[in-house]
Amino acid sequence: MHPKSTDHLQGMGKNILNPTLARQRFMGFALHTDRMMPSREICIRRLQTGINPIKSAAKIDSACTNRYYPRPISSPNHSVRMRTPVIAGNWKMNGSVEMARSLCGDLIEGLRTAGDNASRIEVLLCPPATLLGQVSRAIADSQIRCGSQDIDERESGAFTGQISASMVIDAGGTHTLVGHSERRTLFGETDEVVARKTSAALRANLTPVVCIGETREEREAEQTNAVVGRQISAIVRHCGADVFRNAIIAYEPVWAIGTGLTATPEQAQETHRFIRQLLAAEDSAIAEGCRILYGGSMKPDNAPDLLAQTDIDGGLIGGASLNSKDFFAICAAAIEQAA
Ligand code: PEP
Repeated sequence: MHPKSTDHLQGMGKNILNPTLARQRFMGFALHTDRMMPSREICIRRLQTGINPIKSAAKIDSACTNRYYPRPISSPNHSVRMRTPVIAGNWKMNGSVEMARSLCGDLIEGLRTAGDNASRIEVLLCPPATLLGQVSRAIADSQIRCGSQDIDERESGAFTGQISASMVIDAGGTHTLVGHSERRTLFGETDEVVARKTSAALRANLTPVVCIGETREEREAEQTNAVVGRQISAIVRHCGADVFRNAIIAYEPVWAIGTGLTATPEQAQETHRFIRQLLAAEDSAIAEGCRILYGGSMKPDNAPDLLAQTDIDGGLIGGASLNSKDFFAICAAAIEQAA
């Protein structure tokens, strides 16, 4: 377990027990980006108090990133929250029975050599659905967990080709990705579909890893915070902020996925912190506890710097998760950071 300081969140969030207010505020973050930018003080006070959320959330993205956001918000009540890092592999449409057997074996052996320290992190494998049962059997006596790359929002029925959350559990999975950018862009999944899938996962007791992130165009237009705010707000609107007591978030800038381009540690930290502050505006305990992973060309050489960031609690790894040596090297970096 690694202490990630959340001092900057203290005093940020007032518990909002009224779901309508909570939803409105999240919608405000997302939708009202075309108004006058409020002062830093107003912006922060509104985040702290939740007062007049829709009006006050005007231009929250640029207010937070460009001028106001980087300043930490501190409080005399210092407390340190422990968040266990998660290193998750997304195999996408890759892999075979033989590859799964050998990769799981290598990984189990690597983690064994790390000894007790390995328990400082959680390791998750998301193979294609055809390999889920096999992977789950291969990792059965280890700390590794497995999950699917997607689920259907419905429980069963005439939906050829789909798999449900309960089927994933039946195959030995404990987690599922939802809203991966490839699902959003190639298969037309909207924020609302992703929210319904998140809800379906939680109903079945599957931990959702909710993927969010902006495209290159959106980043260039300085819309990063508006986009991730909109994606989070859709889930809060549908399921309530409480889902983030259990769900994991993966922030994956789309322009960094599979491209070899990586967000700098500072860029990633800035967005992770923004996401955590969105959660803190709902409930500071949820914000402190929620794991926010970074994804987008994470490799053994850039993982240590990314994982060292205060608000980065692990990684969602695509390409490098297909190679046991690389994937284990990223796990080892997380173990090291968690020491
Ligand atoms: C991903 O698919 O979630 C991902 C981050 O891919 P890559 O590591 O290859 O960029």
